[in-house]
Amino acid sequence: MVEFEAGFQPPWYLEPLEGESISHYFGRYCRHESVSSPSQLSKAAGIGPVLGRWEKFRFIPYPTHKELEAIGGLIGLSVAQLKAMLPQESIKLLPIRLCALCYGEKPYHRMEWQYQSRLNCEVHGVKLLTKCPSCRQSFAIPSQWVEGRCQRCGMGFKRMGKQ
Ligand SMILES: [Zn+2]
Ligand SMILES: [Zn+2]
Repeated sequence: MVEFEAGFQPPWYLEPLEGESISHYFGRYCRHESVSSPSQLSKAAGIGPVLGRWEKFRFIPYPTHKELEAIGGLIGLSVAQLKAMLPQESIKLLPIRLCALCYGEKPYHRMEWQYQSRLNCEVHGVKLLTKCPSCRQSFAIPSQWVEGRCQRCGMGFKRMGKQ
């Protein structure tokens, strides 16, 4: 495995966004680097298919320091950067939630939307959506949010904020 000096950013470095969930980040990373799936990426880091669980917000057993170090070493992220994409309190892994207004401002899934206690967006005060307002389909896991649309009817996430 390649080791980087602290602060060095390899050419394939991709900056995590503020509050971005680990699922959304690794979906974005894999498309950016043409890796077939997050679990493929963690296999390449020598820690098995664990990212396939993390992308579904399954954190039992919780990611270990060693695993975070291995995946971070491969893609140029620090353990602290990875930890920032993990939940800081207890979550509901399903349903996947969305604030369409936040998404309209910056299109990515925020980790805090899955917090157990979080029924409303703290920025906009609106109820977090748990399914498409048009066809009632639940949202795909964030690693699969490519165009930001309902996977069934195609309604754009941004438009869902204008209901
Ligand atoms: Zn919001
Ligand atoms: Zn829909």
